[in-house]
Amino acid sequence: MVAEERVAALVMVSATGGELLAADLLDIKADCLSRNIRPHLRPFVSSVANPSVAVVKKHLARLQACRLCRHMHRPVVVGLPVASRIILVGQAPGDKEPELGRPFAWTAGRTLFKWFHATLGWTEEDTRNRIYFAAVCRCFPGKKETGGDRVPDCGEIANCARWLAGEFKLLQPRLVLPVGKLAITQFMPAAPLSDLVGQSFRIEYRGHLIDCIPLPHPSGASPWHRMEPGKTLLRQALALVAAHPAVRAA
Ligand code: SF4
Repeated sequence: MVAEERVAALVMVSATGGELLAADLLDIKADCLSRNIRPHLRPFVSSVANPSVAVVKKHLARLQACRLCRHMHRPVVVGLPVASRIILVGQAPGDKEPELGRPFAWTAGRTLFKWFHATLGWTEEDTRNRIYFAAVCRCFPGKKETGGDRVPDCGEIANCARWLAGEFKLLQPRLVLPVGKLAITQFMPAAPLSDLVGQSFRIEYRGHLIDCIPLPHPSGASPWHRMEPGKTLLRQALALVAAHPAVRAA
């Protein structure tokens, strides 16, 4: 059976609820690439190799039960169980997100979803359904005595990194979008935002080679993305996101 026929057969197996074997899929994917099969089949081959939504749901259920950090506020905030090749990594939820039950649920989220809508034409719902939302820490750290949200400490960041590492293993993402300095520095050395935003980097994260497009934090507290050179660099970064094959296939 040629690769196109095997893909078509697996589409039928999948549509009827049959089991797909990972080895079969990898084999077919290699076959398709070596035979230069019609490009429209490639996104399908990539997407069927993703874990099932049920596996992602199990991961999220374990994450929601996490009690590792004594000073973090519950509940753990998670996004939708999306088997995506794109991971967006925020910093930590604010005080509204635990109440509303989703990441980027308040003002910073409104700005973030506006950016995606303006560049990709995706609504908030589209974005939440096509990108897996992760964060450096998944619990609200609480307020500082001086006002504003407490920045998670090194121990809390290290505790929560195990969940992010698990998500990389599970989803095998092609693109990571770290949002804000704390998230960006989990993937690359600290540098001024103007040296990072507007560019795409090929990075290695815990054994995974992946494209990384850093974004500034959309919080109203930071004027960086509303002033030059931030405005132009943000536009460039979003154009890179729109052109990325993982986004075009999402
Ligand atoms: S911040 Fe992360 S590691 Fe800490 S309790 Fe919340 S989910 Fe667990």
